[in-house]
Amino acid sequence: VPVVAVVGRPNVGKSTLVNRIIGRRQAVVEDTPGVTRDRVPYDAEWSGRQFTVVDTGGWEPDAKDRAAAIAAQAEIAVATADVVLFVVDSTVGATDVDEAAVRMLRRSAKPVLLVANKADNQSVELESAGLWSLGLGQPYPVSALHGRGSGDLLDAVLEALPAPPPVTEPEERGPRRVALVGRPNVGKSSLLNRLAKEERAVVDAVAGTTVDPVDSLVQIGGETWQLVDTAGLRKRAGRASGTEYYASLRTAGAIDAAEVAVVLLDASEPISEQDQRILGMVTEAGRALVIAFNKWDLVDDDRRYQLEKEIDRELRRIPWALRVNISAKTGRAVDKLAPALRTALESWETRVPTGQLNQWLTALVQATPHPVRGGRAPRVLFATQAGTRPPRFVLFTTGPLDAGYQRFVERKLREEFGFAGSPVEVSVRPRK
Ligand code: GDP
Repeated sequence: VPVVAVVGRPNVGKSTLVNRIIGRRQAVVEDTPGVTRDRVPYDAEWSGRQFTVVDTGGWEPDAKDRAAAIAAQAEIAVATADVVLFVVDSTVGATDVDEAAVRMLRRSAKPVLLVANKADNQSVELESAGLWSLGLGQPYPVSALHGRGSGDLLDAVLEALPAPPPVTEPEERGPRRVALVGRPNVGKSSLLNRLAKEERAVVDAVAGTTVDPVDSLVQIGGETWQLVDTAGLRKRAGRASGTEYYASLRTAGAIDAAEVAVVLLDASEPISEQDQRILGMVTEAGRALVIAFNKWDLVDDDRRYQLEKEIDRELRRIPWALRVNISAKTGRAVDKLAPALRTALESWETRVPTGQLNQWLTALVQATPHPVRGGRAPRVLFATQAGTRPPRFVLFTTGPLDAGYQRFVERKLREEFGFAGSPVEVSVRPRK
């Protein structure tokens, strides 16, 4: 999601403008020099395009002089934003502080739009033309308070944003795509047969849906799922055909085509390198993950606790993976599969509202700031969720983070928001 930063002297109406852009009726707080406000990024939308608005005013509350405060804002805005809105009070005109800020903004390659705020009527609007002298191009006369001109400004913001990614999501979603993978003999075809028996239906074609001929539509837990590359499963069950290399390619293809993978492991044997490789393929592909320990009927009652402990250790790198202990042979807990798939997919598609994300992050970095290295500690400014399927987050910082601190933030992010059954990506965008 692109970021739009709002920069300007105190009292030019930055927060009023932010409120106008996010279209939320909330108490309008005017800028007061020296007064600390908690500022977080907000989700905004215009003409169907989503973006994040950041009011940069709150980051330097201690700054003694206004020029320094606005310079710091501008620096942060330039480092983090895709588009900068530079707000000027058109009833006052351009001040020295404004001009200093403009010089800094113009040195960056970022698009800057000049907002001539408080243009509440036509005569002020006409006067705002004088702001051409700032050298930022056309001023956009806006009354953030009354809304005048804000539509034109937002149209210009959309123009200046980077091109949106092409829409790939189909309007109407077909069945969810599941890959059933695992090394030979873990019981993949047995599970497929069990599902077919329990649910009475392996549907090969459903009117109005297009399914790859190598896939099957299967009822699991009262819902139709598209099991990708079941042709491969059946074939392999019949004869020991193909090399391991070929099987591995086929597994990668199935994972790639799926939204969620069920990795089948054999509970009666230790977790092997090949098992780990398949688990790694799923997480690297960024797919939701359910691990099914099959042949649980072969595990002695008195060994179960010990086995769970061993499994925890083997899977310590992916503690978030959902686990079910099943038996394709007896049908044990096979009904736990569908709820696990649903939970994993839900996590995979979770979007955390920007306000909530940053409220949590602010508290976290306040309680546990980045350790000081060589007299300095980078600050985490804010975060946005850049995407879903799986959830991807970007941390905007004043400098590179220690790997350990980044892992700490990732771990806490999971503690707070869950994401059971889904990988989560966290990247850092340090300001230059
Ligand atoms: P695939 O290669 O992964 O498709 O594995 P198969 O479904 O062909 O199963 C391999 C072997 O494991 C067969 O002999 C199955 O009967 C056996 N098997 C599969 N699931 C279970 C189970 O839950 N319990 C037990 N005891 N045996 C199983």
